[in-house]
Amino acid sequence: MTDAKKLISVMEAIAQAVSENKELLTELDSAIGDSDHGINLDRGFQAVAGKLRTLESSDVGSILQTVGMTLISTVGGASGPLYGTAFLKAAAVAKNQPGIEAQSFIEMLGAAIDGIRYRGKSQRGEKTMLDALIPAYEALTEEYTQSKNFAAAMQKAVAAAEEGVEYTKQIIATKGRASYLGERSLGHQDPGATSATLLLQTIQNSVVGGV
Ligand code: ADP
Ligand code: MG
Repeated sequence: MTDAKKLISVMEAIAQAVSENKELLTELDSAIGDSDHGINLDRGFQAVAGKLRTLESSDVGSILQTVGMTLISTVGGASGPLYGTAFLKAAAVAKNQPGIEAQSFIEMLGAAIDGIRYRGKSQRGEKTMLDALIPAYEALTEEYTQSKNFAAAMQKAVAAAEEGVEYTKQIIATKGRASYLGERSLGHQDPGATSATLLLQTIQNSVVGGV
């Protein structure tokens, strides 16, 4: 089970991964957007990292709620409200729970995706973060239902997200800034799908021994 302390260390690892990949994410956004995705996310997750130490005695739901609100108020761009909403939806699932179990993590990811879909008026196949997150959720659910092995399920989820990133190269953007490019968005991988995969990879690395 992931308790508050573990969740804080996962969020720290995410902040570090985003910081290390800031240039990559911004470069991807320079091809089909406005060159700020890495800068936006790094600003947000650094702000999150700065608040984590004050949250050690909070419960997992409150921690995730603070993460979501911080992202909404600091990230800017399209991705700020979308990632912020995702964490707020996950927080609502985790509310009043002592920690995060495998089944509740799956529910949290599902709720996060629904939040992004609703807020972004978007769906799979539009060259966004959803093209990584939805296949990841499906792979996670399928593997966990069969094997009840969360580490194995996360491994499949990350592989599906990585395939989703590859798939974004083959499709035209119809949501977000990249949609202004129409066919010129072809051949480029989506920055948001890439950052969503990075978050999942980091969660996977943090939970190899179990949730
Ligand atoms: P902005 O496009 O405002 O500069 P960012 O560069 O931070 O914001 O984020 C861009 C990413 O946000 C895109 O690569 C895409 O994955 C995601 N995105 C944009 N619009 C949507 C949407 N409506 N639904 C889901 N994801 C979206
Ligand atoms: Mg941008």
